[in-house]
Amino acid sequence: MGQGMSDKKPFKPHWHFAPKDMLIGGGLMIAVMFGVWLFWPKGGDDLPGVSYKPVYVEAAEMLHLAQVLSSDALEGRAAGTAGNEAARGFIHKRFEEIGLLPLPGFGGYTHTFPVVPREADAAPITGANLIGYIPGKTPGEGPMLLVTAHYDHLGVRDGEIYNGADDNASGASALVAVAEYFALHRPEHDMVIAALDAEEIGLLGARALSRMDGLDMARVALNLNFDMVGRSEAGELYVAGTYHSPELAGIISEVAADAPVTLLMGHDRPEDGPNDWTLQSDHAVFHQMGIPILYFGVEDHPGYHNPSDDFDALTLDFFVRAADTLVMAVQSVDADLQEISTLRREPAGETVQMEGSTQ
Ligand SMILES: [Zn+2]
Repeated sequence: MGQGMSDKKPFKPHWHFAPKDMLIGGGLMIAVMFGVWLFWPKGGDDLPGVSYKPVYVEAAEMLHLAQVLSSDALEGRAAGTAGNEAARGFIHKRFEEIGLLPLPGFGGYTHTFPVVPREADAAPITGANLIGYIPGKTPGEGPMLLVTAHYDHLGVRDGEIYNGADDNASGASALVAVAEYFALHRPEHDMVIAALDAEEIGLLGARALSRMDGLDMARVALNLNFDMVGRSEAGELYVAGTYHSPELAGIISEVAADAPVTLLMGHDRPEDGPNDWTLQSDHAVFHQMGIPILYFGVEDHPGYHNPSDDFDALTLDFFVRAADTLVMAVQSVDADLQEISTLRREPAGETVQMEGSTQ
């Protein structure tokens, strides 16, 4: 797959942007749209580098969103920057296009929160989560699924753009692809879809969500978190969380049996030390509240937190297969959510270090 960007054609989604949308994220979105449009292939649904035919997700839309989010123009999407705002604009537009509802009681998807950086001289910034809602068969009642992925990344450091294609343009675009499927195929239980901000500076978007008014966290039976699901030469996707909720292992084994990737349980035992991912992304916040978690991610690769984490280093065939696997996993836990809702534990209390705070 390691072709250069110049000979890798991007994907032809069915996006149409009304002028008002261009105002979200200022002119940056215009620049990105123009930049990507220049390279759009002409005709056909063949996706360069993808031989797998997805069953559940709209692969062209997903790959295009991942490509846009990880483009240089968005400058690594650090919280509080114009690139971050533009990224939010693109995800916001997709939320609208797939017909996601705002959370009941809210007029829109955007939920801002203040971020007070740790450095005394640093100016406070405003973070923003995008939260959508898919009603289940009994809207407003019963257990609820919380599906998350962060869209921010490291920004520009020492003059280099950290594009964060795998971390986490892949997870954010997979989140939208999964939501699109369930927006069209009503789930059994209510689903909250959250594109989270400020993960890289202390899981702050997840913290803000866990404390917000208007979202009944007591109904959340399970959190599924997607972070780095687009790059695996080995074709392996890990799921962490069954060590803490062994009752979920049976469900995951069934998904793994039919999944178009090698789905492996692991990276969640204390003895894994630095390779224990239980506290290493947004799911940590919900885990500490006692909510069962399933975190989906690939094994670390050379691009992790490196300027080389670019779109053209993603393994696209695997990425599309992984997204289909995520839909299959969500379907399976949705079917058993009443039972899963009995697995909640006592809150563990805060142990994760924070760079900034949400006050
Ligand atoms: Zn990440």
